Amino acid sequence: MAQIDIDELHEEMLQCRRCGLCREAVYEAKGFNGICPVWENTSGFETDAMRGKIMVALALVEGRLEKTAENAEALFQCTLCGNCTQICPAEFEPNRVIEQVRAILDVPIKVRDSLADNIFEKDNPYDEPADKKREWTRELDFSIPTTGETIYFAGCTAALRNPRVARNTARILHIAGIDFAVMENEPCCGSVMMRTGKMDKAVENAQEAAKRFKEAGVQRIIVSCAGCFKTLKKDYEELGIEMPEVVHVVDLAKELIEQGRLQPTDMDEEMTITYHDPCHLGREMNVYDSPRDILTAIPGVTLVEMETHHDKAKCCGAGGGLRSYDSDLSKRIAASRVKEAEATGADIIATACPFCETNLSSGAELAGIQLGTLDVVDILVKALESKTKK
Ligand code: SF4
Ligand code: SF4
Repeated sequence: MAQIDIDELHEEMLQCRRCGLCREAVYEAKGFNGICPVWENTSGFETDAMRGKIMVALALVEGRLEKTAENAEALFQCTLCGNCTQICPAEFEPNRVIEQVRAILDVPIKVRDSLADNIFEKDNPYDEPADKKREWTRELDFSIPTTGETIYFAGCTAALRNPRVARNTARILHIAGIDFAVMENEPCCGSVMMRTGKMDKAVENAQEAAKRFKEAGVQRIIVSCAGCFKTLKKDYEELGIEMPEVVHVVDLAKELIEQGRLQPTDMDEEMTITYHDPCHLGREMNVYDSPRDILTAIPGVTLVEMETHHDKAKCCGAGGGLRSYDSDLSKRIAASRVKEAEATGADIIATACPFCETNLSSGAELAGIQLGTLDVVDILVKALESKTKK
């Protein structure tokens, strides 16, 4: 996110035509069925969907509403998923506007301030000791160096909350014969600070992260988290920060399968899988095919699509800082996404982001739905290791 021009931002907000399409448009031909996951899972107040959020943002920026945490609540009850932006007929990007208004308002929001403090003190937003971030490597039957030109950047969520994804990503890279390292002092990408408007701190953190990569001689960063991917690749570039190449593991694995360096083979069971597009991987980075191509390259896997998918996919509910700001709402959104997956008849809802996977799993639990939630790397590794064992 480059420097924010407040006048320009104000102009953008005025583009809102108040049409309300962002609230609940149903365009079957376009694959939309309902739009705003927050509006769908709250009481349905005007401020729950983007039209109302823009009105609140305008009032706050123009000074008609006092800049308090309570008055800014509607702006933070949003996953910034960008679904509204997909259908908005006006010439602006509402989700980006909300993200920028969060950044310029400078109202004290307890949750985001403590997330930022944790990142500065411990290199992760989860208030875990920094040296715990590499613990997941211990359960592997091969060792990973701490320095190298190619690194796997596990990210805080996989490292500390969903280590299965980190381990399975590492296994895939190992099977493909990729020489890679996992840093001892892996920084946090700072995604949650950018999304929640803690921009000054986020920029400082990004500069420090880039410095660490440079000092370690890193040339290529492999990630498995959609949020890390968007942040390290797109946001850092917009900030003018020089970075090594950043690649998401699904793009890399797809390439490795095509080259024959990864050969997924029959799994022990047949699986019907539906794929959930993470907002940061799909709408933000335009990666839709690689995860689907990986899944369909696995014999025994049948891929089915949910009612909303690709750029129309509904959000898992975790993004935009919502999981920390309002975890109940975040889980309710995940539960509705899981219900959509259940309706396909699939056994598994797969995704390509440990943050989405964690939230979808909470959603399945909340809804009492017996549907497996996995990352694409979990499924791929199963198909690779069954061959290795034969
Ligand atoms: S960005 Fe997503 S959650 Fe936020 S208002 Fe738009 S559709 Fe709703
Ligand atoms: S944000 Fe876009 S879709 Fe929503 S009311 Fe305004 S113009 Fe319409």
